[in-house]
Amino acid sequence: MFSHDATASADERARRPHVPTAALRENIPCILCGTNDSVTLFAEPPFRIVRCTECSLVYTLPRLPTASISEMYQVGYWRSAEAKDFGYTDYLHDRDRYLRTFRLRSKVIERYKPTVGRVLDIGCAAGFFLKVMEEKGWDTTGVELSAPMADYARTELKLNNVFTGTLEEQQFGTESFDVITLWDVIEHLEDPRAVLATAKRLLKNDGILVLETQNVESVFARLMGRRWHHYKFEEHLWHFSPTTLSALLRLESFSLTEMSARRAGKFVTMNFAIERSARVHKTLPQLLRPLRCLGGLSLYVNPMDELIAVAGKA
Ligand SMILES: [Zn+2]
Repeated sequence: MFSHDATASADERARRPHVPTAALRENIPCILCGTNDSVTLFAEPPFRIVRCTECSLVYTLPRLPTASISEMYQVGYWRSAEAKDFGYTDYLHDRDRYLRTFRLRSKVIERYKPTVGRVLDIGCAAGFFLKVMEEKGWDTTGVELSAPMADYARTELKLNNVFTGTLEEQQFGTESFDVITLWDVIEHLEDPRAVLATAKRLLKNDGILVLETQNVESVFARLMGRRWHHYKFEEHLWHFSPTTLSALLRLESFSLTEMSARRAGKFVTMNFAIERSARVHKTLPQLLRPLRCLGGLSLYVNPMDELIAVAGKA
């Protein structure tokens, strides 16, 4: 079981994986059009952010071996010493803020599904979204690759239907869910199309898919350039825009109902905001130091650089 101790020192936190350059994979075609032709937008060796020359999907090259990607999410990712580049500072410590964030986001779902039903959360992490939905009376199911996170959902949040592993490993019934969600997940998947194809099979004919991811073409992302906090090379494999995300959904026979940044903000602590400000300018955390006394205060932050898409079966 993953132990959660908010007082642990920074040295006990994990650092990003170090994989030998020879093991990195370069030959990754575009998932939308299959071509290998791309132009480099910028490089941060050994990684590059590239744009497909055919369809303009932005993605990361090269890529860690599949086993390293899976291993990366087990423990250290959730308590990271360098969260501005890799993972989360302390995911479980932010429990109350995630619950607040998901209460807000659940309103997107309630607009389309005002009565309770069955919800599947793919990549449910510690189960905070499912907990919110359970409190509202929904029948909840989750899948999570990270064993310690899935354990937390089962033991601490008492969510019985949380399964450890990938979606493909599960035996869920065809057309058995009213709502399927992917919060901050699609950009981490090696094969988003395979997961969406499975999600479509599991979704009832009148069900909805709700997907949230970062928007590489947002004003904030453009202003930040290479310092944008979503360029996390090991973990964010794909950077969608409204155009490429729509194309992905269309390719897997989903029809887009809504796409908006409006409810895609997050509750964070002042400390988190100060830590991430280093991405804007390296002196900012020092300038903001007087605000450290408010470090635990929760703020709702929405730089409008993430999208929530709602789609149905086409
Ligand atoms: Zn392409």
